[in-house]
This record gives sequence, C-alpha cells and structure tokens, in this order.
Amino acid sequence: MKIYFDLHTHTVASGHGFSTLKENAEEAAKKGLKALGMSDHGPAMPGSAGAIYFGNFKAVRPNILGVDIYTGTEANIMDFNGRLDLDESILKKMDYVIASLHIPCIAPGTPARNTDALIRAMENPQVKIIGHPDDDRYPLEYERLIAAAARRKVALEVNNSSFCARSGRRNAEKNTARWLAVAKEYRLPVILGSDAHIWYDVGQLEKAEEMIRRAEYPPELVLNYSSEGLDYVLNREKE
Ligand SMILES: [Zn+2]
Ligand SMILES: [Zn+2]
Repeated sequence: MKIYFDLHTHTVASGHGFSTLKENAEEAAKKGLKALGMSDHGPAMPGSAGAIYFGNFKAVRPNILGVDIYTGTEANIMDFNGRLDLDESILKKMDYVIASLHIPCIAPGTPARNTDALIRAMENPQVKIIGHPDDDRYPLEYERLIAAAARRKVALEVNNSSFCARSGRRNAEKNTARWLAVAKEYRLPVILGSDAHIWYDVGQLEKAEEMIRRAEYPPELVLNYSSEGLDYVLNREKE
C-alpha cells in the first residue's frame, strides 16, 4: 500500500541525526509521501535542541516541495507520572507529540511502572503517539497499555528502526508481535514510524509493514495509508 505520511523523523537538531529538514522533505517528496512530520528529540536527550527550537516552528512553512510539513517532538517521558521534558505552553503550539521512554532520560522500572509512565503520558491531549513500545529494556503490560490507548485514541507505533540489526532496543520483533496480537482484539488503529535519523530512512517502513503482514493486522487499521489516518492522529479526541 502507498504510504501517505511518516511522522517520526529526526533532523540534525536532535544532536545525533545527520540530515536537515530540507533533505528529509526532499526524500519524502521523492518517495511520494504527502505529509512529513518532524519530531526531534526533546531537550532532555543529550545533545538535542533546547526549548527555544521547539518554540520557533513558526519559521517552518506548512508545505515544502509539495509535502505537507507537521511540526512536533519526540518528547522524553521523565518519570513514572508521565511528565514530559517540554513545557505545556510549547507542546500546545505543536501539531503533535510522540511520547517515548529513552535511556538515559528515565531509568527502566518494573513492567507496571513503565506502563504507568506511558499511560500517564497519554493523559496529555497533545500526546498523539506512543513511540516504540517494543523494548525489553522497558518491559510493558501490553493488555493495560492497549486498553488505555484504545480508550484515549492514542496511536501505538510500529517502529521500523527497532527491527534493524543495529538497534539498541531489545527483542522488538517478539514484543511487537505480542502487542499487535492484543491490539488486533481491540481493533486499535496503529501507526508506522521510520524513526529516521538520516534522510534516506524517511518513509522507510518496510520492516514495520512486514510485521503488520505477519500479524495479519487489518490494513484499514494502519493509519499511514490515508489522509483520514493522518486526521485521526492529529485530531485525537480529547476527553
Ligand atoms: Zn534518536
Ligand atoms: Zn525514540
């Protein structure tokens, strides 16, 4: 199926990314994507941009090279209460927020506590996506996580980079297969993300799509294939 958008991409502003927004937009256009989201790591990630960067998205045009540009962040969850590393006033001005657990921003807890952190993060209406819930370093209670995601209409991410041999995340294939099986029962819409840190990975979702196929996940529940899917993510209903 044709990919309509990729909302999980990083630029040089993340500190360990290698491409600019222009290069990422060029690649998105080349691959035929209609929409690109920029989601640089929040300020708590060593080397990433400060709050002033995330407050300056007014400089970014809504369309570059024919690709609609959405501005966001991959915020770091800082504690088990789901606190994020950017102020609400800044988060509110963005199109979307991905919330993720990252070393070294939060030390892994028990499965119950890690799950609490993600569920609490979802309570923030700006959080539209939970990034890479697939890592044995942060074990999760998938039943509880997915029930909460379904209730709050937050998209869980099938992260393409997690399946690359050099990923730091552990057992992502096994864990993704596990959570997709639960999510299928809930008919939970899921999002695919490249997590690109260099231009040529933008829109690169093959491994994630392979996971979807293996799980026999209904394609109509994969958000990336349509503008309606994008609307679903960006306009997540507030409670
Ligand atoms: Zn990164
Ligand atoms: Zn991440």
